[in-house]
Amino acid sequence: MTPTPPVEIPTITEKAALTSGASFWATKSLPGSPRGIVLTDGPHGVRAQKGAHDHLGIAPSEPATCFPPAAGLSQSWDPDLVERIGAALGREARHYGVGVLLGPGVNIKRDPRGGRNFEYFSEDPHLTGVLGSAWVDGIQGEGIGASVKHFAANNAEHDRMRSDSQVDTRALREIYLRGFERIVTGSKPWTVMCAYNKLNGVYTSENRWLLTDVLRGEWGFDGAVVSDWGAVRDRVAAVRAGLDLTMPGGDAQADAALAEAVACGELDPDALEAAAGNVVRLIERSEGASGAAADFDEHHALAREAASRSIVLLQNRDEVLPLSPGASIAVIGRFAQTPRYQGGGSSHVRATRVEVPLDELRALSAAPGRVEYAEGWPASRGDDEGRSLADAVAVARAADVAVLFLGLDDADESEGFDRDDIELPARQLALLRAVAAAQPRTVVVLSHGGVLRLAEVSEHAAGILDGGLLGQAGGGAIADVLFGAVNPSGRLSETVPVRIQDAPSYLNFPGENSRVLYGESIYVGYRWYDARELEIGFPFGHGLSYTTFRYDTLALETDAEGIRARVRITNTGDRAGREVVQLYVAAPESAMRRAPRELKGFRSVAVQAGETVDTEIRIRRDDLAYWDERIDGWQVEPGRYLVSAGASSRDLRLTEVLVVDGDQLRLPLSMESTLGEVMSHPLAGPLFAAAMGQGRGDEQADDTSDALGGDTARMAAAIPLDRLRGFSGGSFDPASIAPLLERANGA
Ligand code: BGC
Repeated sequence: MTPTPPVEIPTITEKAALTSGASFWATKSLPGSPRGIVLTDGPHGVRAQKGAHDHLGIAPSEPATCFPPAAGLSQSWDPDLVERIGAALGREARHYGVGVLLGPGVNIKRDPRGGRNFEYFSEDPHLTGVLGSAWVDGIQGEGIGASVKHFAANNAEHDRMRSDSQVDTRALREIYLRGFERIVTGSKPWTVMCAYNKLNGVYTSENRWLLTDVLRGEWGFDGAVVSDWGAVRDRVAAVRAGLDLTMPGGDAQADAALAEAVACGELDPDALEAAAGNVVRLIERSEGASGAAADFDEHHALAREAASRSIVLLQNRDEVLPLSPGASIAVIGRFAQTPRYQGGGSSHVRATRVEVPLDELRALSAAPGRVEYAEGWPASRGDDEGRSLADAVAVARAADVAVLFLGLDDADESEGFDRDDIELPARQLALLRAVAAAQPRTVVVLSHGGVLRLAEVSEHAAGILDGGLLGQAGGGAIADVLFGAVNPSGRLSETVPVRIQDAPSYLNFPGENSRVLYGESIYVGYRWYDARELEIGFPFGHGLSYTTFRYDTLALETDAEGIRARVRITNTGDRAGREVVQLYVAAPESAMRRAPRELKGFRSVAVQAGETVDTEIRIRRDDLAYWDERIDGWQVEPGRYLVSAGASSRDLRLTEVLVVDGDQLRLPLSMESTLGEVMSHPLAGPLFAAAMGQGRGDEQADDTSDALGGDTARMAAAIPLDRLRGFSGGSFDPASIAPLLERANGA
């Protein structure tokens, strides 16, 4: 079949019109055709609004499967699972005639208080990038576009529409852009959504460096850049910077003004041509509304599987879990009956159904009549808290075990604002202390979008199950894990600090006067806690199982693509389980600031009881690179690297050393280069030595270099060329070697 040529948009007016939406969710149609496309939220469910519309999750939407939000799902550390969910989202989007789903959200969780952390995967760019790519592959495999958001450095909700994220280049490249880069280059998303905030002084919607130089120039992005809803304040500046589609649309005057800007020479017609062309291609890519049926039952089952894979068993003292099937259980806490399973704001999904943990526990129990419930705390503040607490204690005391549901309410965290702290509500902690005093076999189940301080929970509860937010089937998943029908295999995708004051961004969050200084630079999450050797609550990557794993061997090989690691592990317990094998890399001899270790590879592996398996994990050579500001590029340092396989960032079981060839760093030489830099340059070094030799006679030169041993040589090596004259009493004229430097730089 010959491909149909792209539609030509003849006039400037039509081109300008195409670069904004027709309505809140839809693009305009192509001329002479009914074809436009609908974009809608995302990310963990389809929020298709047929009637009233909004970007805050207020007006109703069509029923759709609410999968675990990213904060939960990321704890599966399983790209295959994430890809299957992406595909299911694609099928539901198609069912509702949606062409682009607004996700995944891949901003880094810079601070535990970030109000939207529940929508993001991790504090780590590698985990974020791998899972984000899988999400995009899944949905785009179904012919539905993704919109990777929010590009970039949108790491707080406070003042999000004005705030300026001031990030140094290394942190930007290595932490905040790295996930985006992996997804854009590897999975080719149809769209990228710019953020609301400024980046280093320029609104991202107007940031040509970001939207054009980096995104298209360096990463080869060939899709359309979409604005976040309401992010554009200057259409001309936005189109000039490389923004293609302004959303929401419906402002004919603004379209006309954009066309006028071209007519009067303010905007280059090629910039408008490019933007309109990108929107045309986006519309043409989409098959349009098909209304094809989606299997919501199958998707509910997938949501349950995903939720059970996302639960992290943080603590299991005295093997309080799994529960024995016939045990009498005190189920305490309002979340057991009215579960909190998703976050508030634009991602809010109208779930097709919601599993209630209490019902699911009764359904799985061999003695449902012995499952008692107490609300723990009253629904409204005025009600008798003391009575609720006394009831809970009585029920807990009478049972074999207490399962206490704690967490944050919708009102405690949402899109649109950040939290002030990471505390559980005080009355829940009081309840915990009272219940645990009455029932030593107390297990806490946590529901929350952002990290919580867990010192008291860890002290008083024997067991802790951390679900984050688990989506509509979280109730059944919690029951599955509590009873051991599913062996927990979730791992934390974010560090739990001992206290918020330890967090890397503590003093620079959420900023002031619409400015946030990213003062911690590359030291985000575990990179910071490890570099400062801080004690933490629970480490990044942590999660227990009902079985145990032994790490037997780690073997490394290098090839042109990077490192191939083979890890052998054995399930030493008596039940099947999953281990998430994590690879951390350290560059102890690096000349640069480096985190003590960084996640560079991982794999979730199913292992039968008693079984030994070999798993292969690849580390891409590019992932070893740091961003060198002097050459404005990635650089792999040559030398020794330590590769460790482990069960968390603080539980490294095997370490091997590897020598990597690395890139040759060619810094341009100038009069500010030091003697040492010149001497170690492969071309300039010998030329300079020869030139010096000629000036003074070779024998004398040799004598001098011999004499310049040890400390003296090191001191001399640190002198910039343009300062040498002073040290030589005027006999050395730096200008004399300018041609030599030019030759070396040109080579
Ligand atoms: C959010 C986006 C969302 C958009 C449309 C904005 O407020 O930041 O993530 O996709 O609204 O609802």
